[in-house]
Amino acid sequence: MILDGKCPQGPIEKTWDKHRFDLKLVNPANKRKYTVIMVGTGLAGGAAAASLGELGYNVMAFCYQDSPRRAHSIAAQGGINAAKAYPNDGDSIYRLFYDTIKGGDFRAREADVWRLAQVSNNIIDQCVAQGVPFARDYAGYLDNRSFGGAQVSRTFYARGQTGQQLLLGAYSALSRQIKAGTVKMYNRREMLDLVVVDGVAKGITCRNLITGELESYAADAVCLATGGYVNVFYLSTNAMGCSVTANWKAYKKGAFFANPCYTQIHPTCIPQAGDYQSKLTLMSESLRNDGRCWVPKKKEDLGKHPNEIAEEDRDYYLERKYPSFGNLAPRDIASRAAKEQCDDGRGVGPGGRGVYLDFSSSIKRVGENTIKERYGNLFEMYEKITDENAYKRPMRMYPAPHYSMGGLWVDYNLQSNIPGLFVLGEANFSVHGANRLGASALMQGLADGYFVIPYTIGGYLATVKPGTVGTDNAEFKKSIEDVQHNTKKLLSVNGKKTVSEFMRELGSLMWENCGMARSKESLETNLKKIPALREEFWKNVKVTGSGADFNQDLENAGRTADFLEFGELLCRDAHHRNESCGGHFRTEFQTEDGEAQRDDENYCYVGAWEYKGDGAVPELHKEPLKFENVHLAVRSYK
Ligand SMILES: Cc1cc2nc3c(=O)[nH]c(=O)nc-3n(C[C@H](O)[C@H](O)[C@H](O)COP(=O)(O)OP(=O)(O)OC[C@H]3O[C@@H](n4cnc5c(N)ncnc54)[C@H](O)[C@@H]3O)c2cc1C
Repeated sequence: MILDGKCPQGPIEKTWDKHRFDLKLVNPANKRKYTVIMVGTGLAGGAAAASLGELGYNVMAFCYQDSPRRAHSIAAQGGINAAKAYPNDGDSIYRLFYDTIKGGDFRAREADVWRLAQVSNNIIDQCVAQGVPFARDYAGYLDNRSFGGAQVSRTFYARGQTGQQLLLGAYSALSRQIKAGTVKMYNRREMLDLVVVDGVAKGITCRNLITGELESYAADAVCLATGGYVNVFYLSTNAMGCSVTANWKAYKKGAFFANPCYTQIHPTCIPQAGDYQSKLTLMSESLRNDGRCWVPKKKEDLGKHPNEIAEEDRDYYLERKYPSFGNLAPRDIASRAAKEQCDDGRGVGPGGRGVYLDFSSSIKRVGENTIKERYGNLFEMYEKITDENAYKRPMRMYPAPHYSMGGLWVDYNLQSNIPGLFVLGEANFSVHGANRLGASALMQGLADGYFVIPYTIGGYLATVKPGTVGTDNAEFKKSIEDVQHNTKKLLSVNGKKTVSEFMRELGSLMWENCGMARSKESLETNLKKIPALREEFWKNVKVTGSGADFNQDLENAGRTADFLEFGELLCRDAHHRNESCGGHFRTEFQTEDGEAQRDDENYCYVGAWEYKGDGAVPELHKEPLKFENVHLAVRSYK
């Protein structure tokens, strides 16, 4: 099937305004007749639930944490982009649009990216109005810094805690609606199935994580804002609860999964310290505004204290390879460059899996206090974990899985191919192409939540009658039975290996064979080994406790079972895409100097997979990508 993103036609700068005008409206008195389910209350879902509540819809919002304030969005550190052009350095909506398309290696839809750049400025106004304490300059204006893949400063920030401050803003807006009665919040619920009635999304099945009870919820539309899936690599910068489960259940009910192989490996994370570690820690890209990446030029210097290595014996490899962007080369490129140095035997720290991120020249230039003001909490975090003072010696960094550009396929209205199912934030595939630029995830989540879905969902709801399906519909009963069956199955295996052992094994297969570099052979290895591991899981996993209670082992088992299926799809997607683009680096497709080599003639499309049943090969659908406002070009940051 050729997929249609339903992008509006005409001059790109008018598309969103024209589309908003063309969308049908629900009149204010009718809005309260409609119910919308919002699964996920991180930045995307929290902003969306608050905005829909404010508009007058009835919203039922769900999260698995004990409070929306604990969504993974809270971890975001460095900042959020917007094209305000406050520093007067040549930024514009067009430049943000262009940088994002180029940053994504020409694998995103132009119209969606334009809209993102356009509404980016509204986001900053909205957040300032909510009281988000963005950093300010000496005159009191909002301050900006730079992120990778841009030659302007357009990133708004609140020290190294931007996600937390933005989430508190969204949470205040959400709390206001909870108090007003338009939003009903369901904490500690995990969505375990999407309920589809006559081909239309009408509700969800959840497990109450405290009591173990299964619950049905019906609505006129369902939104998923359930975040990303890079925990498929086991070790990642994501919160440990992040999973593919909500998206995967929707996929198995017919929603197409787009570009699952586009995963982002972030260049600056604290290197892994041991085999039993369960999480990796990000050091924000913002640090590369002032930190310089280097490794020793000579292998014999590897054992030396970094401060003893002479300036001329250091290889500032990003500045050398990419003089125009230097340390602010985009993530995919900076990660590969770090790996290249380590593979060349010049990596530092245990196992040679590290590069230095050095602040000494910035400290000399602007003083330690300024660096502390900009990144104090990140330096503290680094010291707590490594027991090293990064004001005195360079940080050690290594790339780690961080973000998923792929996700459920959505059209321009953020609606999946299942009518009534909308997908927001990191959970959808929409705007980042094959590589996301730093500080653009918060921008996308809030754009989707505050400024896109409030319009587009109205366009859909205006075409359906409210309240036509209730939880007494047979599909809800069947969904509960399916979830019960799955729970029983997990609990009854009673094998010998723990859930984490399986997840660690899957993660290691994914990282080794489908991580920063992939090849036909390595992917074929995974396409054999993952189904075998899955089979073993269902014969030999040990899940303790019962289903009728608080049971985190059971929760993790369910998420791992989904990752064991999803990992195979990710590898299948990577295997079919015979090109390199952004974070998808196939070793067979690279230029002479080791850069990603795209194949625009054959792969300039979104690849969206349709579930065809357990054990059956999924079907690939394509949405061709057209570039009318930016010329397809070889991406260069040199
Ligand atoms: C350490 C770190 C730093 C980052 N820094 C930046 C940055 O500086 N700038 C930037 O732009 N981006 C940054 N990012 C990326 C950014 O934080 C995320 O992409 C973004 O916050 C995702 O928001 P979201 O609302 O889509 O998902 P999330 O915040 O992950 O929220 C997901 C929500 O869905 C719920 N949920 C999930 N599954 C289920 C289920 N099955 N049932 C019920 N509820 C469910 C969760 O409870 C949660 O409420 C960073 C990411 C990390 C890991």
